[in-house]
Amino acid sequence: MSGSGRAPASAIVTVGNELLYGETVDTNAAWLGRILAGWGLPVAKRYTVGDIAEDIRETVSLALKEVELVVVTGGLGPTRDDLTKGVVADLMGRSLVRNEDAWHALQAHFRAAGEDEVPELSRGQADVPEGARVLVNPRGTAPGIVLDAGEALLVLLPGVPDELEAIVEGGLLSAIDGRLGDRRRGHVVHHRVVHTTGIVETHLAERLEKRLEALPDDITDGIDLAYLPDVLGVDLRLSIRGGGPDEAERRFDVFVESITDLLGEWQYEASDGDLAEAVSAELRRSGRTVAVAESCTGGLVAKRLTDRAGASEILVGGVVAYADAVKIGEVGVKQADLQREGAVSETVARQLSERVAERLGADTGIGVTGVAGPGGGSLDKPVGTVWIATTVGGETEAVRHRFAGDRLAVREASAQAALAQLYRRLRDDGAKG
Ligand code: AMP
Ligand code: MG
Repeated sequence: MSGSGRAPASAIVTVGNELLYGETVDTNAAWLGRILAGWGLPVAKRYTVGDIAEDIRETVSLALKEVELVVVTGGLGPTRDDLTKGVVADLMGRSLVRNEDAWHALQAHFRAAGEDEVPELSRGQADVPEGARVLVNPRGTAPGIVLDAGEALLVLLPGVPDELEAIVEGGLLSAIDGRLGDRRRGHVVHHRVVHTTGIVETHLAERLEKRLEALPDDITDGIDLAYLPDVLGVDLRLSIRGGGPDEAERRFDVFVESITDLLGEWQYEASDGDLAEAVSAELRRSGRTVAVAESCTGGLVAKRLTDRAGASEILVGGVVAYADAVKIGEVGVKQADLQREGAVSETVARQLSERVAERLGADTGIGVTGVAGPGGGSLDKPVGTVWIATTVGGETEAVRHRFAGDRLAVREASAQAALAQLYRRLRDDGAKG
């Protein structure tokens, strides 16, 4: 199934003092790591160095001995702290020569910015080490540079993430494929992500691992399963190394089909992993709208829904019902109930959901009330206690949760749980009808 032998390994060298000092987070290395693994050129090592010629030189030269593809990012700008190109040319004993494609692109770049001429300082941006292949930068002035460094290929890319991504997606693969294509193809990694929410990683793993042991080998062989938990849920990432995309899709289908009954109520489908997408789709499918009354989430549920284009078709509106007076006056929670049960209670959550749907004229409702912390907890309602109610088809259900973590985590988990509860009920309702 896999290609013969090991995958050709790659290394990443990121250059910049700001990366070492923690002023800029090294997102390029992470992004490149994903891309290269997906291409069948997994990253074996990663280096970060400052804007110091000797350090860049030593590190690049070391990396070239270790792997077959070295990708360097940063230090390609026109200013004095940008050393990468000169150092690499020197290391390889090549001079810098003007590249015509890069020069035309540079002229066009400045013309588009309303300047007649390329500024003196920027002219060197079109110079590359002799014999290099140039990858035009559609978003900036520093082109990508591909060099044959004997044992390995060496790629230089600008540090600005936007520019780097445009160059990589534009033509990097075809520029290196003459050399690495045949061997990397057998190691391309295919992925599928299955999203779950509302079940903790260990419980999910217990159920799944038992099932996986019982499944025939031809379903599980060669499929790696990773659990990726965060505050919002646990994603299952399936990967297959090697083979074509169609074969991988077919095998993912069979695999997911054979575990899907275990995932049941916790699984949801969303192309970008956002549960709000799944909720919006269910509301649309059933021709329903929703209104929300939020206390501890302060509008987060409404935000999640309105992050998506077309939200006006499914969300009527919401009330941030923070103070008791707003819960009572604007949403219609009964004062006596609130005083008797407390703001964080099943009764109040139910009334928030029912009344907000009624008052705003929505088909369904969500009510959230809880203790986000760090203060405000008590023995019977500790920090993280959240009541969530949903109203669907005139019936209201309420669930008490106890979320862990800081204020942000409790609020995010609450919004996610509210969306999950509505999603589940809409789906069950659809399955009935
Ligand atoms: P440079 O190509 O070194 O002139 O980098 C230009 C800008 O890109 C820097 O000021 C950083 O903000 C950003 N940058 C450079 N390297 C990285 C990196 N590894 N990850 C994210 N941003 C970076
Ligand atoms: Mg720099």
